[in-house]
Amino acid sequence: MSEKAYAMPNPPTPGRPVIFNADLCTGCNRCVEVCMTDIFIPNPEKGKPPIIIYPEECWYGGVCVDHCPVEGAITMNHPLMQRAHFKRKDTGEHFWV
Ligand code: SF4
Repeated sequence: MSEKAYAMPNPPTPGRPVIFNADLCTGCNRCVEVCMTDIFIPNPEKGKPPIIIYPEECWYGGVCVDHCPVEGAITMNHPLMQRAHFKRKDTGEHFWV
């Protein structure tokens, strides 16, 4: 078969649900395997971080971070609206609903 298939990241939704630390990531692709919504594809360059190809499909469940064998190689990058929290007036305590 001589035809090639290309994968292109989705330009209208350039979100970054996770951030890779290229210095720490070994390119093992464990995060690619466990992602429930298949937002990643392996990097064609061996040893490099996977490519986020469908960022809009991320559920922010964090299985990629939980299963990464290298601490700090991948971190969640929650959207701004998901970072909001409440603060109790009387105690100053921050909490989630
Ligand atoms: S599981 Fe961690 S080390 Fe492996 S490719 Fe993903 S971010 Fe890199």
